[in-house]
Amino acid sequence: MKYISTRGDQTQRGFSEILLEGLAPDGGLYLPTSYPKIDDATLTKWRGLSYAELAGEILSLYIDDIPQADIKALAAKTYTKAVYGFDEITPLKPLEPGLALQALSNGPTLAFKDMAMQLLGNLFEYELARRGESLNILGATSGDTGSAAEYAMRGKKGVRVFMLSPHGRMSPFQQAQMFSLQDPNIHNLAVEGVFDDAQDIVKAVSNDLAFKRQYKIGTVNSINWARLLAQVVYYFAGYFYATKSNAEKVSFTVPSGNFGNVCAGHVARMMGLPIDTLVVATNENNVLDEFFRTGAYRVRGSAETYETSSPSMDISKASNFERFVFDLLGRDGAKVKGLFKDAIEQEGGFQLSADDFAKVAQYGFVSGASRHSDRLATIKDTFERFGVVIDTHTADGLKVAREHTRPGVTMLVLETALPAKFAETIVEAIGQQPQRPSWIAGLDGLESLPKRFVVVPKDTQTVKDYVVQHCQD
Ligand SMILES: *Cc1c(COP(=O)(O)O)cnc(C)c1O
Repeated sequence: MKYISTRGDQTQRGFSEILLEGLAPDGGLYLPTSYPKIDDATLTKWRGLSYAELAGEILSLYIDDIPQADIKALAAKTYTKAVYGFDEITPLKPLEPGLALQALSNGPTLAFKDMAMQLLGNLFEYELARRGESLNILGATSGDTGSAAEYAMRGKKGVRVFMLSPHGRMSPFQQAQMFSLQDPNIHNLAVEGVFDDAQDIVKAVSNDLAFKRQYKIGTVNSINWARLLAQVVYYFAGYFYATKSNAEKVSFTVPSGNFGNVCAGHVARMMGLPIDTLVVATNENNVLDEFFRTGAYRVRGSAETYETSSPSMDISKASNFERFVFDLLGRDGAKVKGLFKDAIEQEGGFQLSADDFAKVAQYGFVSGASRHSDRLATIKDTFERFGVVIDTHTADGLKVAREHTRPGVTMLVLETALPAKFAETIVEAIGQQPQRPSWIAGLDGLESLPKRFVVVPKDTQTVKDYVVQHCQD
């Protein structure tokens, strides 16, 4: 299996070549040259596998430059009951006949990003050891990504993490989660500014190619193909948990921001998983909902990007969306480049032709949006009727899912975070504190643990100096 760019560069690269990379050199994203097709007999065989075994099978189809036995061992090491609390790893929580949540947020940081990031940590450690190299991961976070990256990379040989966050702007729980880590390879830098300032510093450092090369700077952002690949696994698992035979179809509703999670659903469907509909759910930041309703993709500026109570979906452009459009346009790299480079840079967006937009329905995508009042109502209703407390992002998903259910097709709503992470809105909705998961050690009293972080001004040189001083530790 080889990988190509979505913007026309036909150079074929192996998995371990793109594992540690972000964008392709032409600015595109990596995708496999084709999707392996899963036949009925294979589906039946996979139905009987554990989550870790299933992950091993799927990863092996996409990775041919790591020995299969090693891939399977990495999957087995990653997806354990000890880390995820349940044998099924992503168990279903049935709400009513034909409607269930699929729990993707049982990992160490209580959000679905652990599903991919935990595997990435093990893959990075493996690949760096094989090459005899090390990597300094530099990132900016407003919460979920940074904590997932730190918990995945803590204690990993050959990897250091330098994570920038806006000083004083994360929730107390998120801060405590990240800043309580005492591992010497994890560095928290609290930037005196907002998230965009932190992000700008990361971009400035990454644009200094000489510095980047000398100090082996890497990233773990959501465009990384290995993260997307890890996410394909739970669509298969969810399908098997929800059905008895391969003749049945299942729909998924996915709370979306950067289109990474739902893009993995698209890949699963391209492989032949019997998915009926993929429902894209957004919050007030409805860039994607607008596209799936109208065929217009309009990137927003920061003034038009709202801070909401489902903050991990507050995006102004969906960084993984280009992958889907590449498939939609028959893998025409020149056309994709015309849209994502030329049209977005010059006009801030594009409108698909009627013919191209008609294909969206053939791919089985629909969408919807949700607002703060919808979240509150959905959280309250779900608690009162089923005794289940859901988080704000999952509430966006459930609200939109109910607009797209069809008789005879089970709808799975992906639970992307646990309510304990967003306690303030939960209290607003149901008047009580959400519980913290019992299977994760150390969550009680997390906020009172000693914190390890440094405050830095919003200044690129200060961050560079810090990396230089600490990248040999
Ligand atoms: C990151 C995140 C999302 C959005 O996922 P994308 O892959 O960016 O679409 C949704 N919910 C939660 C809780 C998240 O952390």
